[in-house]
Amino acid sequence: MDPNILHNLSYGMYIVSSFKESELNGQVANTVFQITSQPVTIAISINKKNLTHEFIAASRRFTISILAEDTPLIFIGKFGFKTGRTEEKFKSVKYTTLTSGCPAVTENCIGYLEAKVAASFDCGSHTVFLGQMQESKVLKVAKPMTYEYYHQVKRGTTPETAPTYIREEASKKQAGPLKKYRCSVCNYVYDPLIGDPDFGITAGTPFEQIPATWVCPVCGAGKNDFVFEGLCT
Ligand code: FE
Repeated sequence: MDPNILHNLSYGMYIVSSFKESELNGQVANTVFQITSQPVTIAISINKKNLTHEFIAASRRFTISILAEDTPLIFIGKFGFKTGRTEEKFKSVKYTTLTSGCPAVTENCIGYLEAKVAASFDCGSHTVFLGQMQESKVLKVAKPMTYEYYHQVKRGTTPETAPTYIREEASKKQAGPLKKYRCSVCNYVYDPLIGDPDFGITAGTPFEQIPATWVCPVCGAGKNDFVFEGLCT
């Protein structure tokens, strides 16, 4: 078996949210699929350890919000690397409450659909929930983010399109080779050849020159949580 084959499966990027009584929670998920069209049935796979799993199991409802390609990493990090057990994720995001009581994230999203759980399958570490669509809305016309885009472009691993111009600019700013640093919390890698344009850190800025107030764009960890990863080549 060659596990590398799995890297060739394609996915999207979504926020799956649910509720339990008056509490709301949501998480990033890439495993969202339309299974049938009459009725519209959607399958999602959710880790049993996640709070969202507990909420879906309780309310039998879930909403899928479709992330746009230009969503900033910090927004994804809010739902992807923080747990709702210690943080109220919905406190600082725009959302709407649907008829069922389920929240739908509207910020950075192309639209949403809400479903009522019709069946669920125990898959060991995860549960696959099958839901029939009850409510849906298109919020804007934009390009949806793919899982591949998130990994290759947003997380700063070297994109094929990285222009030579950026490398030249980078070498002007600092003598000696530039260094990559990795977040010890979420494994995001700061690559100085790319910078963090979402936060005004231009390509070519060495890690050492980033302001101390800067935080990991994925999980919000501080600069001190970063460790040396390797030299830029
Ligand atoms: Fe991080």
